[in-house]
Amino acid sequence: MSTTPSLIVAIDGPAASGKGTLARRIAAHYALAHLDTGALYRAVAYQILRENKDPADLAVAMAAAQALDHTLLESEALRTDEVGKAASVVAAMPEVRTAILDYQRDFAVHPPGGERGAVLDGRDIGTVVCPDARVKFFITATVDARTDRRFKELSQKGIGVTRNEVKQDLIARDRRDAERDVSPLKQDSQAHLLDTTKLSIEAAFAAVCAIIDETL
Ligand code: C5P
Repeated sequence: MSTTPSLIVAIDGPAASGKGTLARRIAAHYALAHLDTGALYRAVAYQILRENKDPADLAVAMAAAQALDHTLLESEALRTDEVGKAASVVAAMPEVRTAILDYQRDFAVHPPGGERGAVLDGRDIGTVVCPDARVKFFITATVDARTDRRFKELSQKGIGVTRNEVKQDLIARDRRDAERDVSPLKQDSQAHLLDTTKLSIEAAFAAVCAIIDETL
């Protein structure tokens, strides 16, 4: 009997595309475990910033990746733009990616709560982490739609940034993620493309469920 879970859902896309919200909804709906892989890179970055060290220093980044504190993954402290930016710097280092690859694959194949499968969201899930995933999605939206969402989210948290600062940060992060040599952000050939620019969360969720249901 195979010990591979029956259902692995891979969700990739740029920042603020809605992939995280969709991943959480899919996990709850289909009773799957969920791993936000961006949180792994954010946790590495957060530990570096907390020690006032330089995220661009490979030795520093590797030490943080090897000492990764998984209890941090749910922490609100990871959700700042500063941590997101530093995360995309450490994420461009192949050594850092290798250091956390096994954790992601292990989570997918052996979901921690014993669920029948897992949803992973990130940038390279369909292409590198889980190339054999049962269903793959690439979630996107225009940069203006993503800026509006991120700006609203940060404003609600009382974080004082201008819309233009948010937009410039998103553009810079997208560029770093898409242009890096290792595991760049890109749509896998088997991934279903969903543009959420004009979709409500409900409509986007219905669209992905329709595709997942076809594979069950
Ligand atoms: O998705 P989130 O914005 O939390 O990701 C933070 C950063 O982590 C991204 O900008 C990207 O550089 C990196 N990341 C990655 N591969 C993943 C998930 C995130 O390179 N699978």
